[in-house]
Amino acid sequence: MSDPKTSVRRTPWPESVSRPVATPLQPSVVYASHSPDALDAQYERRTEGYTYAREGHPNAAVLAQKIDALEGAEGGLVTASGMASVTAVMLGLCRAGDHVVAGDQLYGRSLRMLAEDLPRLGVETTLADPTDPDAIAAAMRPETRMVLLEVVSNPTLRVCDIDAVAAIAARHGALLVIDNTFTTPRAFKPFAHGADIVIHSVTKMLAGHSDATLGYVAARDPELRGPIRDFAVTAGLTASPFDCWLAERGLHSFELRYDRAESNAATLADHIATLPGVTGVLYPQRPDHPDHATARRLLGSRGGHMVTFGIEGGRVAANALVEAAENIPFAPTLGDIGTTLSHPATSSHRALTPEARAALGIGEGTFRVSVGVEPAELLCAEFATAIAASQG
Ligand SMILES: *Cc1c(COP(=O)(O)O)cnc(C)c1O
Repeated sequence: MSDPKTSVRRTPWPESVSRPVATPLQPSVVYASHSPDALDAQYERRTEGYTYAREGHPNAAVLAQKIDALEGAEGGLVTASGMASVTAVMLGLCRAGDHVVAGDQLYGRSLRMLAEDLPRLGVETTLADPTDPDAIAAAMRPETRMVLLEVVSNPTLRVCDIDAVAAIAARHGALLVIDNTFTTPRAFKPFAHGADIVIHSVTKMLAGHSDATLGYVAARDPELRGPIRDFAVTAGLTASPFDCWLAERGLHSFELRYDRAESNAATLADHIATLPGVTGVLYPQRPDHPDHATARRLLGSRGGHMVTFGIEGGRVAANALVEAAENIPFAPTLGDIGTTLSHPATSSHRALTPEARAALGIGEGTFRVSVGVEPAELLCAEFATAIAASQG
């Protein structure tokens, strides 16, 4: 079968009447067609086929279909990162003169795009408190193109009343864009609550193993899908086959991982609340959470896999806690299979002044836990030890 004259030429793939069970990895950048006529037919979508990986490839298509099924979406697009999806939506759909309303506690890079990049390109932006529908309504203008929100905020886990905001956006003819990364389709289905566009950082819980950086975006209206996809392909925001392959593998266990992490989070939140030196615990399903009623209405019995708590003793105690929690990576991400710990004052919210952090309820003693799938008793014991150590 192989060409005897040179090893440069590709060897044909072996024939097999059986097919692989696992999804094949297809890293090819480019696809060969039979003839110019055949290529024409492909470009005109009379036949299905890939041409060039930036335009699309099978591993991205398989992953997109899987997330589409979870979100109840069609025609979703996988991108190179969560931020690539945010960018594709903003720059694919907005033009100079448009206005964007967004939550004031979004993911840091989303906030940066709203504060720096969109205004530089002639798109005005207004940030408002996502838990106050009146504040969102007051921010709307006739030229508001879209409203960008996360359902549960970082790190204080405030819950946005998406139903109320969806009604406001619809009344103004603006698109409602939901970044569903924190909640995941297991806890919340934005399209069932009036969202027009759903975004994910697939990097987090969906892929779930901290080894692939990816995003996803889906639009309910097929007319919006073309501009988003075209901008993503033109700007090179599309995803690597290997990352897609890893994420698709991770997704097989998504529901199991999510359910276990969520039940661990509920247990851990209640446990941490009993420990000396703890100033407070934030978890949406706890009755003492400020948005408990909204969480019950929107998320049902789901509380998510994130827990935030505060300890006495400021930075000194925070350093001691991290050092004592030696088996829990202190890392500024979330959604890993294992539990990770982050300290917003030195990571996600470090750009804010201490006063601005305090206004959000973030101090030197504030920690955010992305709870993993370890045994719950182990987590409770490790946090009890680390918090005790932090209190001297
Ligand atoms: C991580 C994250 C993003 C950005 O995703 P990347 O894959 O890191 O680009 C956007 N939104 C939320 C809520 C996130 O947690």
